[in-house]
Amino acid sequence: MSKLLIVSFDAVASSEWESMSARYANIAAFSRTASATLGVQSVFPSNTYPVHCSVATGVHPCDHGVSSNTRPFPTRYPRWITDASAIHTRTLWQAASEAGLTVAAVLWPCTGGSPHIRWNIPEIHIRPGESQIAANLRSGSKLLQTRMILRYGKLRSGVAQPALDRFVTACSADILRRNHPDLTLVHLSCYDALRHKNPGGSSQLDEAYASLDENLGALLSVIDNDTAVIIFSDHAQLDVHTVLTPNDLLVSMNLLNADAAGYTPGAHHCYIECCGGSAFFHPGSLTRTNTTSVLEAIAASEGFNRLLTDDEMHVSGHSDLPFGFSAKPGYCYNNMKSDSESVLKGNHGYPLDAAGYDVFYAVRGAGFTPGETKRGGSLLDIAPLARGILGVRA
Ligand SMILES: [Zn+2]
Repeated sequence: MSKLLIVSFDAVASSEWESMSARYANIAAFSRTASATLGVQSVFPSNTYPVHCSVATGVHPCDHGVSSNTRPFPTRYPRWITDASAIHTRTLWQAASEAGLTVAAVLWPCTGGSPHIRWNIPEIHIRPGESQIAANLRSGSKLLQTRMILRYGKLRSGVAQPALDRFVTACSADILRRNHPDLTLVHLSCYDALRHKNPGGSSQLDEAYASLDENLGALLSVIDNDTAVIIFSDHAQLDVHTVLTPNDLLVSMNLLNADAAGYTPGAHHCYIECCGGSAFFHPGSLTRTNTTSVLEAIAASEGFNRLLTDDEMHVSGHSDLPFGFSAKPGYCYNNMKSDSESVLKGNHGYPLDAAGYDVFYAVRGAGFTPGETKRGGSLLDIAPLARGILGVRA
């Protein structure tokens, strides 16, 4: 049993971890001491919140209950799912806390209001007009967050990256140094943010790789050698050239109303939940015949790839819906076209059979062979590893 630090490198593909291990000093040094697993399957829907909840519980979204980053109805500024109470199964932080261990979490998804996280700086996506600090103080540790804003607030500029990750790292390193938590969870999202705006392989992404390397170095420099470390990515991103807004199809069929804030329900309360590489049809009270008409219209529309399988509908927690569908390579499904189209160059949320879409995890600690490289498996394998390291039950 040992202390454990878990760091998520949001949106880094398995192949990118390999190339980063060759190019960046801190990641290279870590790789030499860690057992890496490449070609790992993400979890479907392959979006940040469902996947982080699966890593924290070891089960699919259908079991932990977080099937999406946001509430499903399409609006311009959707409400993100921020509270730990949204997770219906036992999390690593709950297991650790109930075993008498202490837990810290910094910008880890779906940790808001958790009674099990002693040092908690939750990730809260605010909407225009809301206060970031007020929202964070409501959901996380008040005194800790106040201290962290006073000490490190100057490092960040809203949620702009890579400044935000620098703030996250400074707060995490401070907590690790002063409080020595048994379990520390850190979410670094710089690469995801930059990849959404830049095609894969572009030199603009070097800033994000360098930021991950620098932040990892800073985190590792404040822990002792017998603290185990797990680094993983939640999903990859695929290049996008066209953003699709399938709810406009429902508007054209008089099944949904459009306004400046996005959409408002029509008589049947049906809508499409857009998740980037995939989307799900919520039929409301629509008849089966009209649902079939929607299905036919979507299947004939630009960028449609295929219907989701029964298994994909099930694991994603959408088995109560009549159908879901995925976008062709180069396309993604969004709530609003608006200003997103010109800047959106990459996205996630695709089914797991997409090429080049696999992820990785790497573990340093007692019982893990330094420098070893394995292949295969799933991100669901991380929770049992973490529980074993901490010596807590599922
Ligand atoms: Zn992510």
